[in-house]
Amino acid sequence: MHQPETSSDWKWQIANQISTRGQLEKFIVLTNAERAAFEADIPLSFAITPHYAALLEHPALRRTIIPTIHENCVGTGELADPLGEEDHRATPHLIHTYPDKVLFLATSFCSTYCRYCTRSRMVGKPTGTASAFEESFRYIEEHTEIRDVLFSGGDPLTMTDAVLDELLARIRSIPHIRMVRIGSKVPAVLPMRITDELCTILRQHRVWLSLHFIHAAELSFETQAACRKLSDHGIGMVSQTVLLKGINDDTQTLVDLFYGLLEINVKPYYLLQCDPVRGSAHFRTSVGKGVELIRSLHGNISGLAVPQYVIDAPGGGGKVPILGSEQLRWEGDEVIFINYEGKEYRYPDPEEGRHSRRADCAIKNPIQLIKKD
Ligand SMILES: *Cc1c(COP(=O)(O)O)cnc(C)c1O
Ligand code: SF4
Repeated sequence: MHQPETSSDWKWQIANQISTRGQLEKFIVLTNAERAAFEADIPLSFAITPHYAALLEHPALRRTIIPTIHENCVGTGELADPLGEEDHRATPHLIHTYPDKVLFLATSFCSTYCRYCTRSRMVGKPTGTASAFEESFRYIEEHTEIRDVLFSGGDPLTMTDAVLDELLARIRSIPHIRMVRIGSKVPAVLPMRITDELCTILRQHRVWLSLHFIHAAELSFETQAACRKLSDHGIGMVSQTVLLKGINDDTQTLVDLFYGLLEINVKPYYLLQCDPVRGSAHFRTSVGKGVELIRSLHGNISGLAVPQYVIDAPGGGGKVPILGSEQLRWEGDEVIFINYEGKEYRYPDPEEGRHSRRADCAIKNPIQLIKKD
């Protein structure tokens, strides 16, 4: 494999994003199934940075990035908007699900798209909304019960320093806001974005970062340096990891990732049961498996290395920490649990073996299945 051109300039990485099969094939040899996916009109966005493309020889990372025809299979209970975010949209840019915090969707752009993304319905696509944030600032000003603003998207750290600085200054000018977070996968996929100038802005506005990592193979030299730099600038960092079948659903893989994160001052925060987003059946483990994995960590490794295992309640019940199966009740294809408000929520629980049959059906008739919606 020859080494394609790359650069340590983050704007170059974005300008040279790989978004077609032909560009990708300069980095890796695709399998027939992967090639077929590019021909099958897969609805989810595809693009990666040259930096991350160089990591794709790792089979786990490869599966989270390269489209497959399994994405055309819509499994039972899967939805384009599994968390019911559209029902909680307070303004074009705000999702207000919980009482004291809001999700601020600052951009729909990511430098690299994950195949299992909860917001695959919108990331990398034109949002159809004007980019003005003023209505959202006013909403937050009027809702004095809001203390915590979480910028997400898309990936806010792909925005320019000037835009971020302005956005963060505006939010920090609202007196009742006590916590400002940015959710980002940039340190993994675009580590050169973490410049001294960016760190200064994040520090000035006292921003916490909620970073997205799924596997220790993402902790490249550049990624480790980026996190150390953020830490040296006094930026608090936590991580969120989506539990993915065949990618990180074993104890050793999780231990390697969580210790790797602690070593670069990132506290593992959430291990998220994969949301039932359309075309994600091949990524989802059973909830029983998630419970077994989190149990295998508690006590056996540093408590700081153990995140909370959570199911984000489908329909907008919020994230529910799951400690053991006592909290769960199974009914047919669903697992039932209680959220922080005492309300009952249901998650479509994949059974081992069942969704491999679904994947077969997708391969036979992908287009028809996707149009059924
Ligand atoms: C995850 C999430 C948050 C933040 O939740 P925490 O549990 O505080 O990290 C806020 N709003 C929405 C809609 C979310 O999905
Ligand atoms: S980085 Fe986050 S928002 Fe972007 S595609 Fe991945 S999961 Fe979705």
